Amino acid sequence: MNKFIRIDMTSLKVSTEEVPAKYAGLGGRALTSNFIADEVKPTCHALGKNNKIIFAPGLLSGTSAPNSGRLSVGAKSPLTGTIKESNTGGSFSQKMAKMGIKALVIEGMPTDDKFYVIKVDVNGVTIDEAPTEIIGGCGNYEAIKILSEKYGEKVGVGITGPAGEHRLPSANISFKDPEGNIRSAGRGGLGAVLGSKKIKAVVIDDTGAAKVSIADPEKFKAASKVFAKALLDHPVAGQGLAAYGTNVLVNILNEAGGLPANNFTAGRIEHNDNISGETLNATITERGGEGKVSHGCHAGCVIRCSQWYPDKDGKYITSGFEYETIWGLGADAGIQNLDDIAYCDREMDDIGIDSIETAVAIATAMEGGLLPWGDGKAALEAIKEIRKPTPLGRLIGSGTAVVGKACGLYRTPVVKDQAIPAYDPRPIKGIGLTYATTPMGADHTAGYCISGNILKIGADIDPLKKEGQIEYSRAMQIGTAAVDSTGMCLFVYFGVADNPGGYQALIDMINAQYGINLTSEDVDKLGESVLKVERKFNKAAGFTNAHDRLPEFFEYEPCPPHNAVWDFTPEEIDQVYNFENEDNE
Ligand code: SF4
Repeated sequence: MNKFIRIDMTSLKVSTEEVPAKYAGLGGRALTSNFIADEVKPTCHALGKNNKIIFAPGLLSGTSAPNSGRLSVGAKSPLTGTIKESNTGGSFSQKMAKMGIKALVIEGMPTDDKFYVIKVDVNGVTIDEAPTEIIGGCGNYEAIKILSEKYGEKVGVGITGPAGEHRLPSANISFKDPEGNIRSAGRGGLGAVLGSKKIKAVVIDDTGAAKVSIADPEKFKAASKVFAKALLDHPVAGQGLAAYGTNVLVNILNEAGGLPANNFTAGRIEHNDNISGETLNATITERGGEGKVSHGCHAGCVIRCSQWYPDKDGKYITSGFEYETIWGLGADAGIQNLDDIAYCDREMDDIGIDSIETAVAIATAMEGGLLPWGDGKAALEAIKEIRKPTPLGRLIGSGTAVVGKACGLYRTPVVKDQAIPAYDPRPIKGIGLTYATTPMGADHTAGYCISGNILKIGADIDPLKKEGQIEYSRAMQIGTAAVDSTGMCLFVYFGVADNPGGYQALIDMINAQYGINLTSEDVDKLGESVLKVERKFNKAAGFTNAHDRLPEFFEYEPCPPHNAVWDFTPEEIDQVYNFENEDNE
């Protein structure tokens, strides 16, 4: 990958450079975070002309390495005010890599009010005015269809929906998957950044592109085989996720007493059977039609945790129906009907809004008396208001922190203004440390301590105790920052955590592709360096250790059934980043 493309939306000019030397060995999150830290003023307004947005495939994207097609999108976040990397499936990353594009950077802002479509193909980049029919309320499903008809059925698309056009802080960027459905770079409001730059969509056509070059094809092939076997042999990566999707976690977390319910007032629900992964699987199987129990969000995924969820007549409603969304609406907001949740999920994908932030905002609005508890139809109507947007739609689309403030609530589950996801930090303490300290705002994927606390993969740590959690969250955050730089889906961790040969195969693939000799220590150093860069940006933006804290209510409100409270001291929390000031360059 040798091209670094910049699109200046102020002048509508495009330039293609050689990759700057300092970015040559970086991909994915390592590249997006270093670039944003280098070129974006930390104190700038996230929706102003000084913010930039960067799309970067991972180091292994575009190759035949299993599960390597994830894309990193980076910018300063309008939701959190921090640096942000948001990660997605779809076909965009692999197409970029095959075209030799290491990064696509969008900067500046147009002076007019028009929306644009950026088209990238092997001949270069064009900036077209967006077709009028896809602006002003057109959903992502329809807009992707129209763009595919105009530019070619096989093109990749990254699009900002109505929520991004309205520059709402929870707006995501939606990406076309291989079948034309939707995956999302969900968290942190990066769709609003794209909307502020008046980009309706970025279309990528890799027709005529060469294959990604591999320095040692035989070594790559051998390592890839070992790696794929490690994933497929693992009971979670190879079987559980394919059968039940990520929603396999509803029953597991409910049993553990860590499934946040009714706006984080309990850790267990009674209606788990209505919304569980087992029920999801049985419903899809029974309804048949367009339903699919297992599906990959990009070509080459062997884990296939995604699915197509159909209605009673077998007609597609939604795909990528994730545990976090089902938890947010099903447990945190108490909606007991899986179909109701599926229609909400579809609507959120169609308007282009983060389904974690929005689900938690809905639960918060229910607590605040704006919506009736557990009412799936009312939730759907509220989500629909984001498309217009009405004042209620703007409120919900602004995220959980804003809804909590508007309702005068004490119990508002956010860190750095980003909603806390689907694992209660009181009875699962490791994940609480990740929520508190990650540079991203509350984010389970930044250091997935559920692995060792609940699933007992890669570690075995008592979730209710503090012992070992600081070191564990630190190690998981470092490892995740490195994995996010490879283009690998995070779920590969399950397959390699207890399989040293599988982990080595991952490093071997990188070495074989680039003709280098990375070691596992080098990978750890890469992860540490990414986190340091991100933390440095946040500090310059005004964040201090005092922002690395969970909301106060977690200390005072015990979470049944364990009646656990959050009991880490500030000094203990600050130990997670004890490496921050070391020089590991
Ligand atoms: S395992 Fe799931 S999230 Fe990961 S690449 Fe496959 S479908 Fe996408």
